[in-house]
Amino acid sequence: MPALARRMSRAKPSAIMAVAEKAKALKAAGRDIISFSIGVPNFLPGEHVYQAAREALARDSGQYGSNRGAEALLDAFLGHIEALGLSGYTRAHCATGIGAKHILYNLAEALLDEGDVIAFPTPYWTSYVDIADIVDARVVTLPCPASQDYKLTPAQLDAVLREHRPRVFLFNNPSNPTGMVYRGEEIAALAEVLVRHPDTWVITDDIYNRMIFDGLRYHNFVQARPELRDRVVFVDSLSKTYGMPGWRVGFMAGPEAVAGAVTTLNSNHITNVPEITTAAAIAALSGPQDVPEARTREFQERRDRVLAVLESIPGLRCPRPQGAFYVFPDVSHYFGTTHGPSGLRIGNDVELCSALLETKGVACVPGSAFGEPAALRISYTCPAGQLDEGMQRIRDFFAELA
Ligand code: PLP
Repeated sequence: MPALARRMSRAKPSAIMAVAEKAKALKAAGRDIISFSIGVPNFLPGEHVYQAAREALARDSGQYGSNRGAEALLDAFLGHIEALGLSGYTRAHCATGIGAKHILYNLAEALLDEGDVIAFPTPYWTSYVDIADIVDARVVTLPCPASQDYKLTPAQLDAVLREHRPRVFLFNNPSNPTGMVYRGEEIAALAEVLVRHPDTWVITDDIYNRMIFDGLRYHNFVQARPELRDRVVFVDSLSKTYGMPGWRVGFMAGPEAVAGAVTTLNSNHITNVPEITTAAAIAALSGPQDVPEARTREFQERRDRVLAVLESIPGLRCPRPQGAFYVFPDVSHYFGTTHGPSGLRIGNDVELCSALLETKGVACVPGSAFGEPAALRISYTCPAGQLDEGMQRIRDFFAELA
């Protein structure tokens, strides 16, 4: 058999999916498994979204669509970002794609040449490394451990921009996996640094921008420093906010040249976001917003229940998440212990998650999947009845480590 392309030796399947697959296999074998591993919302969009999709099906044009995205979809997206505080963008600044992941991959192709540096904070969303690897970019990470609330400081950003002169700085707010949300003054301080480094593109992957708790608001570098507009690319998606991960719709807003490049890549990769999906996306963005609003309130309440348990476990360190649907406790206090009942050794995050799954049937993702091996990620979107039971099992598990 001829060899696969060299780049495939660098491409790895998602580490998060690997945990989910193992949990699924144990479930299929009859085990009682509670999965806190996958970042999928536990709700569906409102009926108006399905109705729009049915109507689009009934009037199918049988044609290819726009490479950039249908005008009505771009307009709905523009309305959506205006409500977030991003004004002054037009259709020419925007492009659509098959989910934010596809948009990010397009941006990597559009902005990074082989060997260029892409810098981003750790913990990071797993696919950032994989996307950079596929385009053969060089990754530089900025470690942001629990001791600094998993947040990047202006001094760190300045140092990395000076030393490595990255072509792209990639930022994620609210964060997957930590749930951290940057406050207005924190975004302003980072934006201040970015202004001083005009050769770096900035991608802000802010797909959880509507899932923010405790009365906080979403903030963006462009609002803080409008002069950054010609090199900040904002990325968004329907997947999490609207409970539509499988519909696969993502967006970008940024400089016209970048939106044009993504449109060109679309014309070669996907041609267009499908017509039926487009109709559903327009309905989600411009219809009633009660589903995402109600779910955000519910997630805040779940966050509180999860934190209450984690805070009762001695030695865990868990900065308080204020968005998305993840918590990311630092569990490194327990490395070097043994799980009493099973005799399993806990040397690191992977062994800890594996022992938790084996002995208690609870699936979490090891922090090393996000570049932070001191922690693990709990995604709290499981069915309602499982949340407290799963957290109780986690509490029991840690009590059995010595
Ligand atoms: N960016 C972040 C931070 C994510 O957490 C995810 C999905 O988990 C994505 C992007 C990809 O989203 P999409 O489903 O739109 O491809």
